[in-house]
This record gives sequence, structure tokens and C-alpha cells, in this order.
Amino acid sequence: MNKPCPFCGETKDLEVGQGTPDREGTPTWLYCGNCGANGPWAYCKNNDVSEPTKQWNVRTTDNVWAGKQIETLNAAISHLREYAGHKRGCDSRFSYDTEPGSLPCDCGYDALMAELEESK
Ligand SMILES: [Zn+2]
Ligand SMILES: [Zn+2]
Repeated sequence: MNKPCPFCGETKDLEVGQGTPDREGTPTWLYCGNCGANGPWAYCKNNDVSEPTKQWNVRTTDNVWAGKQIETLNAAISHLREYAGHKRGCDSRFSYDTEPGSLPCDCGYDALMAELEESK
């Protein structure tokens, strides 16, 4: 039983991808048929996919996967920066009592943005 795709949770539609064979064998990997995420590849002989299947299933400790996850997270963070906004009713933007940005507003938007800055 293969582990679900870490990006979309797909469990059934895992496909086998293959590269150009060379003298070591054929580079073979599992990929998600739903979102296209690739597992780590391994050389295979005679269409034996046990090694890439193993790689797919140990992926959480694999740097390839970690790198891809960080990429996905960074994309999500930049979307947040772009689309997040003050909650309706938050009027801190219109307060002139304090220097702008000196206090986080009470809806949490300013605090969220500060957190995102730190994650850069
Ligand atoms: Zn997927
Ligand atoms: Zn606010």
C-alpha cells in the first residue's frame, strides 16, 4: 500500500514515469496522476519498480521532497502576503493616534504580516 501524495492526498492514481535508459538502468519514479508531484527516482532494470516505490514511501525523510514542500510553502506565503487583508471592522488603518505600524492592529493582520516577514 503506497502512501498518499503529500501535496494533494491522492492514494490511488500513482503512475510510473521513466527517463532515458542508460547503462545503469532506466531512471524510474512514481508520480501523482492527480497533481503531478514526482517522487524521487531510482535506476530500475526490467521494469522492476520496487525501488522507486520504496522511495515514494520514505519520501518524508528525502531532501527532494523536503525541497518541494518548502517551495510549496513559500508560494503559499507569498499568496498570503498578496491576498490577506484587515478584517472587516478593523479600523487601525484609520487611526492617527499612533505611528502607522508601531502597534499591531487588533484583527491580527499586522501580526500575521510580521510573522510572514520573519519566515522570509
Ligand atoms: Zn498529488
Ligand atoms: Zn487590522
